[in-house]
Amino acid sequence: METHPGDDAVPLKRPKGRAAPESLPWPQATREQWNDYRWQLSNRITSVDDLAGLCGISAEETRLLSRVTDLYRIGITPYYLSLARFDDPDDPILRQAVPSAEECFGAESGEDDPLEEEKDMPVPGLTHRYPDRCLLVVTNFCSMYCRHCTRKRIWAMGEAAKTEFELSKMFAYVKRHEEIRDVIISGGDPLTLPTERLEYILKNLRKIPHVEILRIGTRVPVVLPMRIDDELCSVLSKYGPVWVNTQFNHPREVTPEARQACDRLLRAGVPVNNQTVLLKGINDHAEIIRKLNTELLKAKVRPYYLFQCDMVRGLSHFRTRLSKGIGIMEALRGHTSGLAIPSYVVDVPGGGGKIPLMPNYILSIGEERTVLRNYEGIIVSYEESPDDGRPSARPETAPAAPRNDVYRLLTGEVRALIPAGNERMARRKRRCESASPTT
Ligand code: SF4
Repeated sequence: METHPGDDAVPLKRPKGRAAPESLPWPQATREQWNDYRWQLSNRITSVDDLAGLCGISAEETRLLSRVTDLYRIGITPYYLSLARFDDPDDPILRQAVPSAEECFGAESGEDDPLEEEKDMPVPGLTHRYPDRCLLVVTNFCSMYCRHCTRKRIWAMGEAAKTEFELSKMFAYVKRHEEIRDVIISGGDPLTLPTERLEYILKNLRKIPHVEILRIGTRVPVVLPMRIDDELCSVLSKYGPVWVNTQFNHPREVTPEARQACDRLLRAGVPVNNQTVLLKGINDHAEIIRKLNTELLKAKVRPYYLFQCDMVRGLSHFRTRLSKGIGIMEALRGHTSGLAIPSYVVDVPGGGGKIPLMPNYILSIGEERTVLRNYEGIIVSYEESPDDGRPSARPETAPAAPRNDVYRLLTGEVRALIPAGNERMARRKRRCESASPTT
């Protein structure tokens, strides 16, 4: 551990080994500065040259990585970099923060927007995909640019926040659509906005009577925890219910500072959920995910999703096979508290949304018995209750019935789903038409 000069100097873990830095760009930082998010933001590492000065990257590598950052910018907070172990070439902190040539070499596979967020965008920056929810991208700026980011495509638009005019178009859309009850404020990282601008957004959304829940997607608790200050918490609590979804990917990110940030949010009445991204070589091991989730539970943060890494251009080196994620879920269930088990989901290309994946615990479904398997491999015959003809519970208000096709099959509304363009059905139709009497 290195210590900064001065009485109130900040102790920093000095990177060692492969990239033992000779000097740090913030050697004179006082504790007060270190704990000030504005200082962290203005001292971010924003070029490969900055980074080379820190971790001894060769001139050739610096040139190569500069070509990567011409395409995909770099931004790392001093705080997040201080968590790195520079002697480990596979360090999970560095892998998430430091550009890699693979981002360009792997660019032939994947797409810029595989989830087709732009195609479901009736207003610039607003994606309306699910019936009762919508997502607002309110800024392109992040305090750290995660190398595995799904929205890397927006980095090219500069580090700009949406203007009041652009925001007003989004508010107007939400207002017109009374079915929207849940608004997700995302980016970029919305918690990097000035507090007044964030309040402006929350206040305008709160004015819309049918909006029940506001959610904020942010990595600030992980990469800039000092941003969660009293002023921000009081704004968030004023416009509640506000939920925060964050993204811890590795147990080493659950630091005392990060725990304190989550605690502040919780004390302000803001529940915190975590959405881990499954990343090859970073957290694709059941023990890492188990440890991460138990650390999060200790911080009272709920492990909500384990996301399959999206098929975004330049991310192929981060992607695991689906079987890896299912294997991790298999290793968690039964071996740790149910509270520490997230839903493993894949956001399917083409805008199909999130699909949950899990190991199969149902071996067979019979009329009277269902055969189940437990986490130890014990196979159990589960006796179904006899149908006594009593109806299921009825809600006080009529529910909006789900209108998806599986529901229509289950209710008997349709007997089969036939893909459009099925040649056999087309033949039948032609035959019926030719057999019907003409007038
Ligand atoms: S903070 Fe979120 S939006 Fe920003 S780069 Fe990281 S993953 Fe992407």
